[in-house]
Amino acid sequence: MKSGRVMAIVGAGHAGGRAAQTLREAGWTGGIAMIGAERHLPYERPPLSKGLLTGEREAQQCHLRSQEAWRADHIEHIVGAVQSIDARERTLQLADGRTVAYEALLLATGGHLRRLAIAGAQLDGVVGLRTLDDAAALAPRLSEQARVVVIGGGFIGLEVAASARARGCEVCVVEGAARLLGRCVPAAIAGRVQALHERNGVRIVLNACAQAIARRDDGALAVTLDSGEVLDADTVVVGIGIEPADELARATGLETGLSALPGLQPSSRGIVVNTTLQTSAAGIYAAGDVALFPSRFGAHRIRQETWHNAQTQASVAARNMLGAGEPYREAPWFWSDQYDWQLQVSGEPALGVRTIVRDVPGGAQIHFALDAGGQLVSASGFGQPQGFAKEMRLARMLVEGAAPVDAVSLANPEVKLKSLI
Ligand SMILES: Cc1cc2nc3c(=O)[nH]c(=O)nc-3n(C[C@H](O)[C@H](O)[C@H](O)COP(=O)(O)OP(=O)(O)OC[C@H]3O[C@@H](n4cnc5c(N)ncnc54)[C@H](O)[C@@H]3O)c2cc1C
Repeated sequence: MKSGRVMAIVGAGHAGGRAAQTLREAGWTGGIAMIGAERHLPYERPPLSKGLLTGEREAQQCHLRSQEAWRADHIEHIVGAVQSIDARERTLQLADGRTVAYEALLLATGGHLRRLAIAGAQLDGVVGLRTLDDAAALAPRLSEQARVVVIGGGFIGLEVAASARARGCEVCVVEGAARLLGRCVPAAIAGRVQALHERNGVRIVLNACAQAIARRDDGALAVTLDSGEVLDADTVVVGIGIEPADELARATGLETGLSALPGLQPSSRGIVVNTTLQTSAAGIYAAGDVALFPSRFGAHRIRQETWHNAQTQASVAARNMLGAGEPYREAPWFWSDQYDWQLQVSGEPALGVRTIVRDVPGGAQIHFALDAGGQLVSASGFGQPQGFAKEMRLARMLVEGAAPVDAVSLANPEVKLKSLI
């Protein structure tokens, strides 16, 4: 590392890597230290539950860029865990004892997999999916006719289910709630996703909780549900979400908090940032899955666990580390690929009090949500990419525009969405 203070990034994941690139693009000529606990160069996670499991992608293809490109930009990748930060002295310490003095710091620490707190959760064959190493361990387990039980009907669990079916596995998804995709997708769309999985041979068990996992004498795993039913499995994939990795921020005394939608229970923790993505300490920023940031649709804060959020927040935070003072104004957006269908959600569906359904040729639908004041707050769609992707791009622009929209026109497939923007 060069002498003098560097731009430091804790977490060499998607947001960390993107921020390092942006610092150079924005003209920072000093040192950049990108410190990550994983041994890999920064990579994108979406392929982990899709192409990497079906065999259509390789690990190398997930990397943000090559080793040579990081070197050419003089961006130092340090493999190690950051243990503490001294916000007053502007230094950080790694677990191996090294100290880094920083000019400005970005926390892009992502999240930790939520663990299943039941007997047998530690057994061999009970796995989670967050990292390249997790995907490399899971992929060979998805052999033809292997029995796979997925615990959790969120988007990662369902993508694993679709990938496992593509590999010829027998798949059962167990979900504790009365519907799939509870956190982020309207119920009617979740019903369509469920029907697609069932058409593809996945068994979906709703309102069911795994109570224990045991190893049978024949080596198989036995998952006991609270109904008393026992599911046999060769592999159990636990997909019950993440907890934001905000422990370093808390130990540093930075403000962390709970996101809460108006009128709803607080839902998740995270590092509190303002509109410029700065934490409660001068010179320290946060971006990606760990950041709890002001919503552009109201006075509340939200946290997003999406590719788009990591990508766009990292760039804004990096420019602000250099003094740009740029507000982060992006509307949330994510996609999920399952079989040859795609789910996309733009905005915040939880804020909607009224839904307008628009049919899209090819069997797709887009559900627009309006808040109490009639403002468009989200568009959630499910369809096959041809035709649907273009409609959804326009729907996204409408949500991002936050302009008043005519509900009757939105519902009418004869009225082009383009004409409403
Ligand atoms: C399997 C999977 C599939 C996904 N699919 C989609 C999708 O289809 N569409 C979509 O929009 N989004 C998807 N996502 C979400 C998206 O990938 C994440 O939102 C994104 O990776 C978040 O980036 P991040 O940089 O905030 O966190 P991460 O990419 O998780 O990076 C955080 C890094 O910080 C490191 N770290 C943490 N603490 C420390 C410390 N103290 N010291 C050093 N390093 C530390 C961690 O080891 C980790 O490498 C998916 C995620 C997963 C896991």
